[in-house]
Amino acid sequence: MAVNIVKEKCRGCSICVKNCPFEAITMENKLAVIGSACTGCGVCVDKCPFKAIEKTEQEKKTEDLSRYQGVWVFAEQREGKIMPVVAELLGEGRRLANEVGCELCAVLCGFGVEALAEELFAFGADKVYLAEHRELENYRTDAYTKVINDAIEAYRPEIVLLGATHIGRDLGPCLAVKAGTGLTADCTRLEIDPEDKKLRQTRPAFGGNLMATIICPNHRPQMSTVRPGVMKKAPYEKGRRGEVIRLEVNFREGDIRTRVLETVKNIKERVSLTDAEIIVSGGMGLGKPEGFELLKLLADKLGGIIAASRAAVDAGWIDHAYQVGQTGTTVKPKIYIACGISGAIQHVAGMQDSERIIAINTNENAPIFEVADYGIVGDLYQVIPALIEELDK
Ligand code: FAD
Ligand code: SF4
Ligand code: SF4
Repeated sequence: MAVNIVKEKCRGCSICVKNCPFEAITMENKLAVIGSACTGCGVCVDKCPFKAIEKTEQEKKTEDLSRYQGVWVFAEQREGKIMPVVAELLGEGRRLANEVGCELCAVLCGFGVEALAEELFAFGADKVYLAEHRELENYRTDAYTKVINDAIEAYRPEIVLLGATHIGRDLGPCLAVKAGTGLTADCTRLEIDPEDKKLRQTRPAFGGNLMATIICPNHRPQMSTVRPGVMKKAPYEKGRRGEVIRLEVNFREGDIRTRVLETVKNIKERVSLTDAEIIVSGGMGLGKPEGFELLKLLADKLGGIIAASRAAVDAGWIDHAYQVGQTGTTVKPKIYIACGISGAIQHVAGMQDSERIIAINTNENAPIFEVADYGIVGDLYQVIPALIEELDK
């Protein structure tokens, strides 16, 4: 829907300006003017006391959506290594492709990365669209957007999935704008509507307090970013074959507006919570940043790593790279030990799929015990040393 001002009726009262939640209306020469920020929400229509704002149906897109076919997965690679989320996207992509009845493809960009196509076939891709160019060696928004958008225009996939990694979160929206379609970010569930075969994309909304299911009915491709660690990895079938389709890559002066001067690796890239099998996680119950030293002792004994709740991160006790939860990392270890963590919904969203959850908390009514397989009611500063002592024995 769009809205229009009927100039003859507008009295210039500016009530609509104050009521537009998107600050999309301005006054010019005592007349309301709708700006480009308008989302078509329609709030202003009822607010105008003079019925000077009308709803108009947007021009219907005449494009034939059935010309779009296939599920594509962005095969994110860094320094010649496929990111773990790609196997998860291919697992999910295969399920969706089977339900729609179409093929599953991967899009691989880089320089000297052709050999990675084998890995993508082994994880279930039927085709790999390969773009190789020196300018694609390091990820840059302009270069990857241009190449993949050109491929989308040429081959018209129906669904495009990207990992909600730093790169995927940057690339996804740019591609969606170029392709003139929508994007649902940070999906935790994807389904095909059995009736119309449209993609139903579910993600947490309103601070994680409810799940929203979003569809993209009028535009293609249907695009989603998916959080790493949420979907099941595709099985690896060594020797599985597929077709490589080379994409033509041409850049003109001005196509790429940035240069990579230096790559600085910091601690954040070294914490691999997603792959950890044992996680000892701490929250505000630690009471002080030094509490993580005790957790580290336990984690080392178990061959695991430490993690944290957002409150502990916000308190400045530990880096954000360690945060588990809706706005941190989603983890699925074999054992997750939550120490002094209350179990807020946003934290639980990131660890509830762990195989075994052990909670240590002084409050027997803490919500974390609702998701825990084993609960220990007690002071973590007594319980953890006792556990370490037992492990030493
Ligand atoms: P608290 O809720 O303060 O809990 C501390 C717990 O420690 C209590 O249960 C207490 O009984 C226990 N305790 C105290 N002393 C001891 C002791 N000596 N021994 C044992 N137990 C003890 N949170 C996340 O974790 N990850 C996220 O990604 C995340 N994203 C968010 C996104 C949004 C939009 C919002 C609004 C919030 C988000 N949060 C997230 C914050 C979340 O709502 C909680 O505030 C946070 O998880 C609480 O952290 P906590 O459990 O460490 O602290
Ligand atoms: Fe014009 Fe109606 Fe807006 Fe008042 S509320 S400025 S009359 S459009
Ligand atoms: Fe603002 Fe919504 Fe009216 Fe657009 S339709 S001008 S966004 S109130």
